[in-house]
Amino acid sequence: MTPADTRIAVVGAGLAGMTVAGLLQRAGFPVAVYEQAPFFARIGAGIILSANAIKVLRRLDLEAKLVATAIAPAAFVSRAWDTGATTYRLDFDVEAEARFGAPFLNVHRADLHKVLETALTPGSLHFGHSLVGLEQRADHMRLTFGSGQTAVADIVIGADGIRSVVREFLFGAEPPRYTGRIAQRAIFPTGRILGGPIDDCTKWWGEDRHILSYFMTSRRDEVYLMGAVPAPPWEHEETSRPGSRDDFIAAFAHFHPDLRRILEAAQEVNIWPICDRPRNDTWSTGNVVLMGDACHAVRPYMAAGGVSAIEDAAILARCIARFGSPAEAFRCYEATRIPRVAEVQRISIENSWMHHDAAVDWFFGYDACSAPLTEPR
Ligand SMILES: Cc1cc2nc3c(=O)[nH]c(=O)nc-3n(C[C@H](O)[C@H](O)[C@H](O)COP(=O)(O)OP(=O)(O)OC[C@H]3O[C@@H](n4cnc5c(N)ncnc54)[C@H](O)[C@@H]3O)c2cc1C
Repeated sequence: MTPADTRIAVVGAGLAGMTVAGLLQRAGFPVAVYEQAPFFARIGAGIILSANAIKVLRRLDLEAKLVATAIAPAAFVSRAWDTGATTYRLDFDVEAEARFGAPFLNVHRADLHKVLETALTPGSLHFGHSLVGLEQRADHMRLTFGSGQTAVADIVIGADGIRSVVREFLFGAEPPRYTGRIAQRAIFPTGRILGGPIDDCTKWWGEDRHILSYFMTSRRDEVYLMGAVPAPPWEHEETSRPGSRDDFIAAFAHFHPDLRRILEAAQEVNIWPICDRPRNDTWSTGNVVLMGDACHAVRPYMAAGGVSAIEDAAILARCIARFGSPAEAFRCYEATRIPRVAEVQRISIENSWMHHDAAVDWFFGYDACSAPLTEPR
């Protein structure tokens, strides 16, 4: 498996797909990325990128661009829904940056995508390519897209998210698991909030619900709110739909006034079903391998799904570059990633991360670009 003659097809241009494609291209592999969407839409949502993700994106020379686009929040603060008491605080100061090896950045997802796109070889990202067929031919894989177009590759990486079609080809159709909660999301200008300044990044913990509020730009001019609340089974076709501002405010009406005054500023609200997948320890078959939400979708309660997808990218790229065969590469990738991701899955189900004093170095201090690979047995 020499880089130049190993053609790699990445299905899905999300965080996982874009990062692995950029890293493999830098290692000399010809990589094509196939994305179903006709272009990147400006989805109304933010994302928290912890230091362990930034250390990977740094390898793509994206750190400075992200710092210019995103906000490095002063701290992450956990507060009790009723008293407003701080139950945990992690300051992101110079000491923390040295301790974890990179800054923490909160960013608008669309801005993150724009930055990630700059890491790819021009012409290697193909929009409007929705994978509908995947076949093993004598010595290559053949991909078929909804448009009727086809492509060939030696390795196929399924980075196509929680409803992965590549996963379906490997293991059959299996819908994601609805967790009994929806996410209510809103983005609005900071100027709409009455009263004094607000903190950069706060998670408010209730008994059966929580809500996160943070800025997404260093100008602190846009606020992102994401509440997770119990809800009946999701019976809509779409995976996101308009919600109601009144319902959002009502869901947190009993919370502390510091939160309520931020919530009152919300305008448009969107709702999403919160889904995950049970742990599954098979991430590859033959020349096809999964990464990110396609193989380990988690509940968004640790802000670690996207970060884990970025870590996957670093480990998978290293394994493909190091081993002579896809089988060996994928065994090493699985052996290295599965135990760590399993811990992220466990904590995300528990929804306990940084609620109270927490040991966080194992997660934030990790550098997927230099951490030891686990030799497959
Ligand atoms: C409410 C909420 C908040 C979250 N907050 C955070 C956070 O703060 N920090 C964090 O790290 N994570 C967070 N996450 C999790 C994070 O969003 C996901 O884990 C992450 O997006 C997974 O990246 P991915 O690249 O694997 O999949 P995706 O981002 O879903 O990307 C998959 C891509 O594949 C494409 N695709 C799908 N099917 C096909 C097909 N057939 N053919 C071609 N292309 C296809 C899709 O269009 C998409 O572009 C949150 C999730 C939710 C729901």
